[in-house]
Amino acid sequence: MSEIVIIGAGPAGIRAAQTLAAHGVKPVLLDEAGRGGGQIYRQQPANFTRSAKTLYGFEAGKAQALHSTLADLQGQIDYRPETLVWNAEHQLLDTLHQGQRAARLSYSRVIVASGATDRVLPVPGWTLPGVYTLGAAQIALKFQGCAIGEKVVLAGSGPLLYLVAYQYAKAGAQISAVLDTSPFSAQVRALPGLLRQPATFAKGLYYRAWLTLKGIPVHQGVKLLDIQGQQRASGIRWLQGGRERQLPCDAVALAHALRSETQLADLLGCQFAWSPLNRAWLPMRDPLGRSSVPEVYLAGDGAGILGADGAEMTGELAALALLQDLGKQVDGARRDQLLKRLANLQRFRHGLEQAFPFPEYWAAEAADELVVCRCEQVTAGEVRDAVRAGHWEINRVKAMCRVGMGRCQGRVCGAAAAELIACESGRPIEQIGRLRGQAPVKPLPFGLEVSS
Ligand SMILES: Cc1cc2nc3c(=O)[nH]c(=O)nc-3n(C[C@H](O)[C@H](O)[C@H](O)COP(=O)(O)OP(=O)(O)OC[C@H]3O[C@@H](n4cnc5c(N)ncnc54)[C@H](O)[C@@H]3O)c2cc1C
Repeated sequence: MSEIVIIGAGPAGIRAAQTLAAHGVKPVLLDEAGRGGGQIYRQQPANFTRSAKTLYGFEAGKAQALHSTLADLQGQIDYRPETLVWNAEHQLLDTLHQGQRAARLSYSRVIVASGATDRVLPVPGWTLPGVYTLGAAQIALKFQGCAIGEKVVLAGSGPLLYLVAYQYAKAGAQISAVLDTSPFSAQVRALPGLLRQPATFAKGLYYRAWLTLKGIPVHQGVKLLDIQGQQRASGIRWLQGGRERQLPCDAVALAHALRSETQLADLLGCQFAWSPLNRAWLPMRDPLGRSSVPEVYLAGDGAGILGADGAEMTGELAALALLQDLGKQVDGARRDQLLKRLANLQRFRHGLEQAFPFPEYWAAEAADELVVCRCEQVTAGEVRDAVRAGHWEINRVKAMCRVGMGRCQGRVCGAAAAELIACESGRPIEQIGRLRGQAPVKPLPFGLEVSS
């Protein structure tokens, strides 16, 4: 039987499921995670007992609301946790349950709400043990109650930098420093946009002030030089105001904001367009979340970074669009209200991008010997060699030097590789194209059991 399927049980997917169920439609909700909530409202393992306030801070109310929505939907939706969608094609999804049972699921319509992951710009030493992405550092804390080290440095850019620093310090971990590549002046310039969401902006200010009050060093406008260490990370060096500085540490969390998880939309045949705001190719969607493929809908950070509130709204909107396409009556006033709130959120999002600008100098300054693609051990110099040999389209460069060909399928190295190719070829970043999605979108084990 063909099902209506939602991929991703984060804020976007859960609100989409709730909306469909409220209109009498019973969707299948697939998520590779064991418990619903997505990245921001990730739940701890069932036998852990930290309170919602401890786990989610100011967002505890929203997290609890989303978790209880999912719990209340029991019976009204077919929720399948621990189910990875590793391939997608016209009206068929290939899934893997609990890492061992493979199956095929046919769908009539699908909402893709696959979320985002960290955007990584490598620095020398980033492959040393003890170096994590910022999101991974937060997952360790949120999920298992662990810190990534005893003297932790958080480096890169984006609002998560301050949030994770606050969460770590609040949980009792020692933060040696926060190294923000964005200058303070950028944040001042971004004020008009940031004030579009005064409550969110106030939380950001609070985290920043709290860190200062606790004596945690925050350095802004830095250029990261390298992470030092032999067997594991033991220090970090950076430039600030023309001066070289360094600090001992045993762990580093590194990221420059987030990137959308777009592979499934790609495999489903959606058209993509360049988004200057996200500095990425994104699947195109209309204001309600309809993609270029009639039976495919897009919601949440997987189709452009907008944050958790935006994910909830776009999840609901995509479900309303789907219902409308099924010929069901939907609440037009509710839809218009959501669209209005989204427009405001978009202006805030522009403010965030201004406050935490992408470090455009990175590609020109990356040393030739810097490993960019750790799966295939491809260096910046090898990417540049492929460009010098006349290749500038990213899939050609991949074919020439294997960048993006490994286990991560370019999800970690793709953004950095694109920057290097653009810089070396002298072309605008959008001209070098995007890595084509390939199944399996995540690694699969050998010896799968196949069920129907
Ligand atoms: C590690 C991390 C931590 C974050 N923490 C915060 C935070 O603390 N505060 C904040 O404001 N924002 C945070 N964000 C930003 C966050 O992306 C959004 O605010 C919000 O979670 C987006 O909701 P979503 O529903 O679009 O996606 P997500 O919440 O990312 O949910 C997507 C879901 O899809 C599932 N999924 C993805 N691909 C597949 C697949 N192939 N098969 C099956 N399931 C799949 C995932 O398991 C996930 O549960 C974080 C982002 C990351 C990457």
